[in-house]
Amino acid sequence: MVNNANLIEKVAKMKAGELTCTKNVQDFLAEVEKNNKKYNIFLEINKNALKRAQELDNKRKTGDLGKFYGLVFALKSNMSVEGLTISCASKTLETYKGTYNADVVETILKEDGIILGIVNNDEFASGISGETSAFGPCINANAPLRVPGGSSAGSGAVIAAKMADVALGSDTGGSNRNPASHCGITGIKPSYGRVSRFGLMDLSMSLDQIGPLTKDVSSAAFILQEIAGYSENDAISIDRKVQSYEKKDSKYTIGIIKEFDDMIADEKIKELYINKKEKLQSLGHTIKEISIDDITLAVEAYYPIVYVEFFSGTRKLDSVKYGKKFEAAAGIEALRRAMGGQEISKSEFDGAYYKKALKVKEIISDSFSKAFKEVDFILTPISPSLPHKLGESMSVEDGYAVDVFTCPSNLAGICAGAVSVDKIKEGDEEIPVGFQIMANKFREDLMFQGLYILESLQNR
Ligand code: GLN
Repeated sequence: MVNNANLIEKVAKMKAGELTCTKNVQDFLAEVEKNNKKYNIFLEINKNALKRAQELDNKRKTGDLGKFYGLVFALKSNMSVEGLTISCASKTLETYKGTYNADVVETILKEDGIILGIVNNDEFASGISGETSAFGPCINANAPLRVPGGSSAGSGAVIAAKMADVALGSDTGGSNRNPASHCGITGIKPSYGRVSRFGLMDLSMSLDQIGPLTKDVSSAAFILQEIAGYSENDAISIDRKVQSYEKKDSKYTIGIIKEFDDMIADEKIKELYINKKEKLQSLGHTIKEISIDDITLAVEAYYPIVYVEFFSGTRKLDSVKYGKKFEAAAGIEALRRAMGGQEISKSEFDGAYYKKALKVKEIISDSFSKAFKEVDFILTPISPSLPHKLGESMSVEDGYAVDVFTCPSNLAGICAGAVSVDKIKEGDEEIPVGFQIMANKFREDLMFQGLYILESLQNR
């Protein structure tokens, strides 16, 4: 089994020489060799990965080893890595090679991690299924008939397929958490400003955060702790100490958002949600119903912000500096967003849509701040429905509605994470379902406590 161990234990094993970095890479490469054609997860494999593993093995005797010693990383295709193709899963940037390393990449390398390659995602991080990738959808080994979730589809699928220890994804409105739920793993959206976005191709610069996707919660906490922190390359990154993410044995007050109760479309998800609330109570935690102002408008506020900021971000894709001309090469969803953003940015609207959206963002954010005076963290489902079948058609509105439970945390800038809680049976299929824990800005310590507790209730 290649990635069964918790990553903290795995690094310790590699540092002790019980597992070589070379063997770790070789095991994952064997999985890639066996299944990548079928699953369409890696868009590019880093040809230097094995060489780097050998160098790290040679370095072991020096004893001066980084925190990620030997760990194998897969990166979403919107993070810059020098020399690798950073296509954003778009024809626009099909041949674009990274000319520098994103801050998160520098951290991985500094801490002796290994970059195995670049994985698939929805084009320009826009979607909920991975199906908007210009290079075809990828497959979720844990529910092969269903979409793996999006937009960080490959970052979820690569963990489900046991092809890497860790994946990094970007989350603008749910993109790390939605695939984590569908793939039966853990995915984190840190507080806005927690992780440097330098080297990330923005979908929406005021909402994006980079976060880890891993098999279990403690591994995700371990990775986040190291990639977090201030960088002079990213003005909004925050110089704030990361609290300890160690598991504690405390009792918490857990918020439940009243407005969400009627928004869960799938009856079995609803049942599971009720069941978990009861289990949490029986463990001695207090469940408290709260209300968040304007939360029912979150999706309506989220998309205009994304549209406008994405439009502005795409202006550099002019075929002179980068890739092909955006308008000529981008897919339908990316075009819809950029053109929509252009339309609502027109001077005749005087920023009406954008300003209104920002107002709702502020109201939601203030309301969360108040709520976190009463509760330690908040429990919600990730998706109102089960992942749809691959290729099944869906209206734009229905697709956007999938973000109802995830995009509010991006609007508020708070942290949120998803952990797998159970599987739901549909005919012969067993489909993973994850729930979400949201905590206040820079209270990842509390968020992880919530995720640990949910994880302890997995399949129970
Ligand atoms: N589904 C959302 C969207 O399409 C989220 C995307 C993301 O988080 N990158 O915008």
